Amino acid sequence: MTSSLAQARADFPILQTCVNGRRLVYLDSAASAQKPRAVLDAMTAFYEHDYANIHRGAYDLSLRATDLYEGARAKVQAFLGAEAPEEIVFTKGATEAINLVASSWGLTHLKSGDEILLTTLEHHANIVPWQLIRERTGITLRVVPITPEGDVRGEDVCAAMTPRTRLVALAHVSNVLGTVLPVREVAALAHAQGALVLVDGCQAVAHVPVNVRDLGADFYVFSGHKIYGPTGIGVLYARCDVLEAMPPYQGGGDMVERVTWEKTTFKAPPARFEAGTPPIAEAIGLAAALDYVQGFGFDILTPHDQALVRLAHERLTAIPGVRLFGTAAHKAAVVSFGLDGVHPHDLATVLDSEGVAIRAGHHCAQPLMQVLGVPATARASFALTTTEDDIAALESAVRKAKDLFA
Ligand code: PLP
Repeated sequence: MTSSLAQARADFPILQTCVNGRRLVYLDSAASAQKPRAVLDAMTAFYEHDYANIHRGAYDLSLRATDLYEGARAKVQAFLGAEAPEEIVFTKGATEAINLVASSWGLTHLKSGDEILLTTLEHHANIVPWQLIRERTGITLRVVPITPEGDVRGEDVCAAMTPRTRLVALAHVSNVLGTVLPVREVAALAHAQGALVLVDGCQAVAHVPVNVRDLGADFYVFSGHKIYGPTGIGVLYARCDVLEAMPPYQGGGDMVERVTWEKTTFKAPPARFEAGTPPIAEAIGLAAALDYVQGFGFDILTPHDQALVRLAHERLTAIPGVRLFGTAAHKAAVVSFGLDGVHPHDLATVLDSEGVAIRAGHHCAQPLMQVLGVPATARASFALTTTEDDIAALESAVRKAKDLFA
């Protein structure tokens, strides 16, 4: 492994492959990031040398596996700046983490007439779980508008908040527009009203430093696969007092103290929320991914992303007919755009023939697409391996598509 960004591409076996006979230019890390050798090796080493089920075994292997799994929890705690490892619940992803909060916290603490505030740019994972809870409780969902640049402003959050607001649930970084939302400011406003704050950190954790206490997040969620870790593992952070006031989300082994036919008692968090055999190797892979990212540090990673966003904006807007979606002053690693007269799916197909992998579609943000007035956008998203050459390849492939469809 290298800790120089210029050499980082060599750490990723998949980036050594070719697509359509060309060097792979992978610009879809917002959907899922590729994996460095360090993550693959950590998971293989676990399966080859330490694998067993955790928590229940009295033998050496199981104790070692338990230590590795709980060590991964401590690593996530440190990464997020949480106060205690008990505040970290492993889930299978951000989607499950939000559903956990909606079902457990929502069904316990929300009643008809209560309000949840979301923003226009939320991913479906931070919309649909709340709609499901609305059907069961009669709560109201209110939506904070965005500016034409794709910003969320504190004053608009303030205007949408009422004495019935119980939760503000917002992305830390938009997966479509790349906007970094003013989470600290929103949290202060929410707390002043007695509301809690849930932050969807999926698109933030690989790009900006996160400290949940500094942000004022009561809940913070993310998926491991977007920060160079494996799929099947995600994180729910919540303060101990918040988790303790939440009932189990699922029932099963490892989350109980005692089971009788009459009554079952539950363990304290986080075990209460981790029913059944958890994704052990995936937690270990995630810990390796966090180590890998921290080997570079956000002092290097954040400016690297920001420079790439600026360059991509510059290069793409130089092409006649290109329109950018999301031009907020504070952005991270995501550039959405359209090309006049060309459907984003066709654009993505032409780019693929040039070895450039981007995403096209609604990006699981259909309410935002409605506001943008388009059915879909093309989206390039960046990783720590992305280089200026990759942006040049993007520009030249978009120019080729323009010529093809002219
Ligand atoms: N939230 C945001 C902002 C996302 O970008 C995504 C995935 O694209 C999710 C939530 C859902 O993540 P997952 O599918 O890993 O649960």
